[in-house]
Amino acid sequence: MNSRVEIDTEQAQPAQVGEDAVLACRQLRKCYRQGGRDLEVLSGVELEVKRGEKLAIVGASGSGKSTLLNLLGGLDTPSSGEVRVAGRNLAELNANERGWLRNSNLGFVYQFHHLLNEFSALENVAMPLLIGRRPVAEARSEAETILKAVGLGERMEHKPSQLSGGERQRVAIARALVTRPACVLMDEPTGNLDRATAAEIHKLMNRLNQEMGISFVIVTHDPDLAAALDRCLHLIDGQLIADWHQGDHV
Ligand code: ADP
Ligand code: MG
Repeated sequence: MNSRVEIDTEQAQPAQVGEDAVLACRQLRKCYRQGGRDLEVLSGVELEVKRGEKLAIVGASGSGKSTLLNLLGGLDTPSSGEVRVAGRNLAELNANERGWLRNSNLGFVYQFHHLLNEFSALENVAMPLLIGRRPVAEARSEAETILKAVGLGERMEHKPSQLSGGERQRVAIARALVTRPACVLMDEPTGNLDRATAAEIHKLMNRLNQEMGISFVIVTHDPDLAAALDRCLHLIDGQLIADWHQGDHV
């Protein structure tokens, strides 16, 4: 993975980001109707993700980590409270505007890569740009650039079934990055990979963070990864209760 990221960092900056927070939420609550009663999964979560910051969210299974990530990414709506992406309150936008804001500022990587099996790595990565109506030649060239950046220049025509687990996850990361988002949200991105492959993915995230200034919010069970990031937040009983900055703990 020696290939350099050939990306114009000027262009990689998001168009308009409120102050230095790329993503924020205030008093975020989420309830689900379960077994005839309301289950409050998140109760007043406060969070601000700064540009270029790498943040871990840890917590027990069922504590609401995926719920929080989906709310932050505008994939689901909160019961109350607000989410701001690039300074814009998602609740004040219609579905089209929300989709546009999400696509131009955020990228998503899931535990299971969610790639489309009938398409090549290149086609999977170009897909978000084509959906955003970018011309095919331009989408292809952007997808090639980012696939080279994640070390998959030689694998672009392969389908997911012809790639290893680590390679598939790198394709998923490339797909999340191709729109040049300010922030990438990852839900247990290495939970399904062996340690050595996970370490490769971590190295890649760090490099992209340094070279492109992308923020990462990573839900993880991996204590090594959580400790290596700028901040680690614990989701317990619906609240983000601990929040330390690495520099405070020397
Ligand atoms: P985590 O990602 O930390 O494992 P989740 O956010 O997936 O936790 O789930 C938190 C809680 O919310 C769990 O008790 C789960 O059963 C419940 N939950 C998640 N999604 C839904 C849903 N769509 N409908 C009802 N309950 C849900
Ligand atoms: Mg989850």
